Amino acid sequence: MAADGERMGASAQRTLEEAAQRADALRQEIERNTYLYYALDAPEISDAAYDSLMRELRSLEAAYPQLATDDSPTKRVGGYVEKQFTPVRHAERMYSLDNAMDEAELIEWMRGIEELYGHLPALCCELKIDGSSIALTCRGGLLVQAATRGDGTTGEDVTANVMNVKDIPRALRPGSLDVAADPDAPLEVRGEIYMPKASFEALNREAEAEGRKPFANPRNAAAGSLRQKDPAITASRDLATFLYAISDNAALKLKGQWELLQWLKEAGFHVNPDVQLCQSREEVLAFCAASLEKRGSLPYEIDGVVVKVNDFALQDAAGFTSRAPKWAIAFKFPPEEKTTLLRAITVQVGRTGVLTPVAELEPVAVAGSVVARATLHNEDEVHRKDVRVGDTVIVRKAGDVIPEVLGPVITLRPEGALPWEAPKTCPSCGSRVIREEGEAQLRCVSIDCPAQALERLLHWVSRDAMDIDGMGEEIVGRLVEVGRMSDVADFYSLTEEELACLKMGRTNKEGEAITLGHTVAAKLISAIEASKERDFARVVCGLGIRHIGKNTAAQLVEVYPSMEALKDASEEELTAVHGIGERAAASIWAFLRTPDNVDVINRLERAGVAMAAIRMEGEDRAQTLAGLTFVLTGTLTELRMSRDEAADALKAYGAKVSSSVSKKTSFVAVGDNPGSKYDKAVKLGVPVLDEAQLKAVLDTGEPPVI
Ligand code: NAD
Repeated sequence: MAADGERMGASAQRTLEEAAQRADALRQEIERNTYLYYALDAPEISDAAYDSLMRELRSLEAAYPQLATDDSPTKRVGGYVEKQFTPVRHAERMYSLDNAMDEAELIEWMRGIEELYGHLPALCCELKIDGSSIALTCRGGLLVQAATRGDGTTGEDVTANVMNVKDIPRALRPGSLDVAADPDAPLEVRGEIYMPKASFEALNREAEAEGRKPFANPRNAAAGSLRQKDPAITASRDLATFLYAISDNAALKLKGQWELLQWLKEAGFHVNPDVQLCQSREEVLAFCAASLEKRGSLPYEIDGVVVKVNDFALQDAAGFTSRAPKWAIAFKFPPEEKTTLLRAITVQVGRTGVLTPVAELEPVAVAGSVVARATLHNEDEVHRKDVRVGDTVIVRKAGDVIPEVLGPVITLRPEGALPWEAPKTCPSCGSRVIREEGEAQLRCVSIDCPAQALERLLHWVSRDAMDIDGMGEEIVGRLVEVGRMSDVADFYSLTEEELACLKMGRTNKEGEAITLGHTVAAKLISAIEASKERDFARVVCGLGIRHIGKNTAAQLVEVYPSMEALKDASEEELTAVHGIGERAAASIWAFLRTPDNVDVINRLERAGVAMAAIRMEGEDRAQTLAGLTFVLTGTLTELRMSRDEAADALKAYGAKVSSSVSKKTSFVAVGDNPGSKYDKAVKLGVPVLDEAQLKAVLDTGEPPVI
């Protein structure tokens, strides 16, 4: 499959020697985890992290073909035959499956299939059951042997154990073998043995109560329960099966996978009911989306969808690679964990002086977006996770959630990697750093710290606060550097002329200093001017008071709709406001009594910044969109509005605006460069509005007609 380049540039910057060393280390680590997983049923890392290591090795082998070896784990069916079991040679090799990690890869695979056959043949879609492969041999209609997949050629004899699995029939239903090419020949039926989620949880509860190590997941619990020396233990575990294959398609006179599934059912085996014979790419994609959607509600674990060319004759024409059939693919549900390199740990100084360690990562695609940085929260977290520069770390990201570094893959740690040391002085101003009692954070004590000033200024112009369009880090940073700005009131004394002449610290081809210029300056001045009319809650949020964010500011302003009223409120009165805790109340009370802050507020007021709630336009409007939930994604270029402004306008008509798409979402409105929310809307069948349709809703207040 394509797209093995998630560790962007991973191979590009390496010398051959470095690449060889990395490939070697990866192979060892993969082998170690393969053994832990298959032989001991006790993995140390998640499947997604394991897949990520495997993909890195595959992309290294592709970039440096001289490093590829025949026995590389990328070319083998992973699995072991433990000595405690009698080996069983499979009648035909048992294969693994190639993976499509996302929709694009699945579409690419279907394109390849279409090219191979000259048309897209019917595709049989099945759920990918997250259990352990099993091969059941029947002779004369009776079950005589059961084996694990092992290394694909040889498996482990687990017959005695399988005889204790209740849902496996000991004999085929009479007449089943009427379609057999040779009714006396042995027939190997294959499928998955799994442990239902509820049984897995009960088993782990029991293990914990008895002080035994719990299983990592239902798949390992199923494999571990099956591979027991004592069949009585297997009998005590709740195992179940779904069968979906035979070793030799010619053994039964059937045309394809769909017919085989019907036959297996009639012969008495358990067959998963969620199957669909799809005739087009769209049907396959819809089946995958629907399966992902129902994943959580199924009583057993699935980790994807298996798409198979239905017709056996066509399957035979395509054949196999060394580890997988070419006529099938496993569409894996989005992984949420990847491994990547921790290049550095930097320290960011926030607007309240808090020092936050940040993981600087080799960029890696996780859950649909590229992650290059992730917060490590505080000193204790870095030490608890024991992440060190040079480590291969596991990064997790769920949907739109902030990426997180879970921890290092210890065995891939380079020699000499040292534990991280927190800075003793502020990396921005060199002042003393303190850690107050009971606090996890380090804090810079200086009020003149330029990093803090910059963060405070950027917070003021940010979307959640005054939303001053165009005022980004580069410009504000320059204004701080040249000493023109130190607090938020300074924005309102800026002139177009001085902004136009502001040197940006870069030169053009002729070596002349680049200045901001009149066009940009004029736009910035009008954006600053427009911010004077912002809602008072945004002003309160923008001041950057500790413990007061967007939501708490809105709650405060509900009760105290002006600066006057806020200043008059006592600490107790502030604590009584819904959503305001003691710490927040103390913080705002003290803030409004600090002379420097009072001076900034007075200057803001004199500059014309609204210091009281302006009655929101639309407050009296009919609530024509009540009951509807909108999600906004992308840049609203035609509307010339920020998403927050569009959200406020929708709310004025009584609509709810949510940040994530679910089945309950009524409409997803899409601007330029929409993110994953758009894909999710398409998957879930949520109606999508373009900007023109959204504009019509905002102009009329009428729900859209789709
Ligand atoms: P796989 O699980 O990705 O896919 C192949 C298997 O899917 C088949 O062998 C079959 O048993 C199963 N399957 C389930 N439903 C099916 C259906 N309807 N039709 C056909 N097959 C179906 O590949 P694998 O080789 O079994 O295992 C590799 C995976 O195991 C890796 O992707 C990794 O996630 C995991 N693993 C994890 C670790 C770890 O340390 N966490 C170690 C080794 C392997």
